[in-house]
Amino acid sequence: MAERIECAVIGAGVVGLAIARRLALAGREVVVLEAETAFGTHTSSRNSEVIHAGIYYPTNSLRARLCVAGRKALYRYCAEHDVHHRRIGKIIVACDDSELPGLGKYRQQAEANGVDDLRNLSVDELAELEPEVRCVAGFLSPSTGIVDSHGLMLAFLGDAEAHGAALALASPVLAGQAADDGIALDVGGAEAMTLKCDIVVNAAGLRAQEVARSIEGMPAAAVPPTHYAIGHYYTLMGKAPFRRLVYPVARPDWLGVHVTIDLGGQVKFGPDLSWIDGIDYRYDASREADFYRAIRRYYPGLQDGALQPGYTGIRPKIYGPGEPAPDFMIQGPRDHAVKGLVNLFGIE
Ligand SMILES: Cc1cc2nc3c(=O)[nH]c(=O)nc-3n(C[C@H](O)[C@H](O)[C@H](O)COP(=O)(O)OP(=O)(O)OC[C@H]3O[C@@H](n4cnc5c(N)ncnc54)[C@H](O)[C@@H]3O)c2cc1C
Repeated sequence: MAERIECAVIGAGVVGLAIARRLALAGREVVVLEAETAFGTHTSSRNSEVIHAGIYYPTNSLRARLCVAGRKALYRYCAEHDVHHRRIGKIIVACDDSELPGLGKYRQQAEANGVDDLRNLSVDELAELEPEVRCVAGFLSPSTGIVDSHGLMLAFLGDAEAHGAALALASPVLAGQAADDGIALDVGGAEAMTLKCDIVVNAAGLRAQEVARSIEGMPAAAVPPTHYAIGHYYTLMGKAPFRRLVYPVARPDWLGVHVTIDLGGQVKFGPDLSWIDGIDYRYDASREADFYRAIRRYYPGLQDGALQPGYTGIRPKIYGPGEPAPDFMIQGPRDHAVKGLVNLFGIE
């Protein structure tokens, strides 16, 4: 006989854990099913750990609305739960006059998104804030920050467990069957079982489409295509030459290698972006010359040999190269007619 549970969340990344917490706080019975032997080992631990302000995303998109509201909620949550974070700030810079229109567009978009604290800076002010950065113009985003992503996930998990949720590690969801009385999930691992659920939230990140397609009754046509884009980071040897994050204007030929700083003070450059066929985190060190060239546009003091290969992360995209970026896709029964199922696609 199948075990029965009210809610199953598939995937213990930052998104699945946040959802599990919220459901548990609302008094629901929750289990989080995670394929790996630890939580947060995929995209949630292979990123920049930046709390974004909400500057770039299209007006009224979920990306814009959730980023601005989420940023405020995240600062509040981190402060209340002692999650290590810093409101470190970020400068966005134009390296030459050709990038000035790009800077102007960011400002306009930020305003439309309700990001109301940006500050234009003179070249002198920029030089005072970040003496190592060369640029012709820029502005400051004071509300951009950094967060300890592992600490954040641990806090979400702690809250969820304190309200009765359980995390099942090494418990991959292999398939499912949707019926009127709930969704049955076939869970693998050492204690393989079938779990009957009233509500299933598919937060499987890079594998969300695969999981959705494996659920009998879920219309295949409603599942978006799967595309993966890998990003590489290089780390900088030695002391940090910057006090805040530095983002150049994105260019069509090169998406812009940003400066991020982690909570330990380590400077990282990246990510770049290239399209790959599968989930393969292998590091391709042949990008080094491109990184040096891109970074020296705004940081001419970068010494030869100062960059060390860092790590990679993969974005779960629902669009391919050259296609316009659609919004996050959060699908419920109104979209696919499967009672109790919520799919999260392209949460990149
Ligand atoms: C290079 C890069 C930089 C980024 N920088 C930032 C940033 O600075 N700031 C920011 O806010 N965001 C950033 N992001 C985006 C952010 O990291 C992601 O949006 C977020 O981590 C997604 O979390 P998730 O829980 O959806 O996915 P994941 O963390 O991938 O979690 C999905 C989980 O599902 C599990 N799973 C998969 N299949 C199954 C199955 N069949 N059964 C059970 N479990 C399964 C996986 O093992 C995994 O643990 C970045 C992303 C990348 C790639």
